[in-house]
Amino acid sequence: MNIETSQVLRRPRRFTGEEPATILELPRETQFQVIGDVRYALTAQRFDADMLVRGVLEVDVRGRCARCGECCNQTIRDGTFARSYPLSAANELIDLTADIREAILLALPMNFLCSEACRGLCVQCGANLNKAPCACGKPRQTIPWGMLDQLKLKRK
Ligand SMILES: [Zn+2]
Ligand SMILES: [Zn+2]
Repeated sequence: MNIETSQVLRRPRRFTGEEPATILELPRETQFQVIGDVRYALTAQRFDADMLVRGVLEVDVRGRCARCGECCNQTIRDGTFARSYPLSAANELIDLTADIREAILLALPMNFLCSEACRGLCVQCGANLNKAPCACGKPRQTIPWGMLDQLKLKRK
């Protein structure tokens, strides 16, 4: 994505559009699959010898949840993109592609989750606990109390 600096004045100017996902240069074997284009809604503004660009970057990805293993889509968002570019000529073409790529890559989660509240899989039976509680959890929780009752009965 390029901005022609002669188009940018002290009054903020908005640039919105899409860039192909190939600008991210993601290796094929990542845990994410990018769906569609990288969307940007940026505001460029001139400050003396610099051009400030701020705004929002978004891309949809499909990945496998690190807890439950289900495939899900998620929107990766950098809502605080901000970069300053020094201006050296009356008019020049400033390429933001590398900075957009960097910002999106930093916004990618280390642990891809279908939801923050994902309950994951039961370590005992492997059931997906988001769908229904499995039978393993309940008896285990009640065993200590049952044992205490038995101990009390034995003492009497
Ligand atoms: Zn999950
Ligand atoms: Zn279970």
